Amino acid sequence: MEKRTRVLVTGGAGFIGSHLCERLLNDGYEVICMDNLFTGQKDNIRHLLNNPYFEFIRKDVLEDINVECDQIYNLACPASPIHYQYDPIKTIKTSFIGALNVLGLAKRCNARVLQASTSEVYGDPEVHPQPESYWGHVNPDGIRSCYDEGKRAAETLFFDYHRQHGVNIKVVRIFNTYGPNMRGDDGRVVSNFIVQALKGEDITIYGDGKQTRSFCYVDDLVDALIRMMNSRVDFTGPVNLGNPGEFTMLELAEKVIKLTNSSSKIVFKPLPQDDPTQRKPVIDLAKKELDWEPTINLEEGLKRTIKYFKKELKN
Ligand code: NAD
Ligand code: UDP
Repeated sequence: MEKRTRVLVTGGAGFIGSHLCERLLNDGYEVICMDNLFTGQKDNIRHLLNNPYFEFIRKDVLEDINVECDQIYNLACPASPIHYQYDPIKTIKTSFIGALNVLGLAKRCNARVLQASTSEVYGDPEVHPQPESYWGHVNPDGIRSCYDEGKRAAETLFFDYHRQHGVNIKVVRIFNTYGPNMRGDDGRVVSNFIVQALKGEDITIYGDGKQTRSFCYVDDLVDALIRMMNSRVDFTGPVNLGNPGEFTMLELAEKVIKLTNSSSKIVFKPLPQDDPTQRKPVIDLAKKELDWEPTINLEEGLKRTIKYFKKELKN
């Protein structure tokens, strides 16, 4: 019998990780999902637990990792501002020491390793839209720094392991991604607005709502992650992954209200410190190297996500 490629997904019980595990199993991989369940949920992977090619290990990436594998997707890290700011010291440790641990494992197993980096490495960007060549505009001392600088240092470590030890790395910079399996209390804008709209509560816009983001539906993102992992060996990235459609938070709120047919009113709350004013990826590199571009527009993605949350709120 042909041996299946064995894949470790750290953070596999989280929002993106759970979709990735499911897609990998469907594609014929063997999957080890490692997660400390800080923001992830067992419910996200419950339907996979009986699959003989799936294994769940409850473990922190700060601990030694002792598994044999051919590929590693390093997703372990809280991604929502409220969660990564809850214990900022732990967040920066998770980014950096987590990266160190998966890189050590990749070196020992001769595995490919993909780092889930982020558009946050561009900070509050002064170049718009953002190409990979832009070095960013990041506050090293603010409330977002544990995440932004943690992810920047992790990228550095990835490239140093590549240059110094020849580890086969893949670095992706993920822009705002949304979809089913986000937590209702995740705190990120898409889940907040949908849950508020479905409950008939006020929709909370931070600041004047003119700040922009570009939202990618999770299925598109997962497809890109797998393409990147299996791309030609000398293509390391960093590569931007996201949907270039750009929307203000006011536009997003109005879309969510319309699609949920909600009676919710928009209210304005203070803008958190260092909240980026604009964000939109240049994805020419992903198009060229991965033959990838998003296929699901915001309206369609929101409809699917609203359907998910309607079901969740009934339970
Ligand atoms: P998420 O919070 O749903 O998932 C993160 C997962 O990592 C959770 O299951 C959590 O329990 C786990 N985790 C956290 N700390 C851990 C630790 N120390 N040890 C083991 N597991 C740990 O968030 P997500 O949106 O699915 O994000 C996944 C990855 O993608 C993160 O690395 C994030 O930085 C990156 N990313 C996400 C987005 C986005 O818009 N969703 C954008 C940019 C980058
Ligand atoms: N935001 C908002 N209301 C909310 C949650 C977030 O207006 O209830 C804003 C937030 O200030 C930011 C944008 O939406 O400008 C995206 O926030 P999110 O936390 O989803 O992602 P990030 O800021 O990390 O891109």
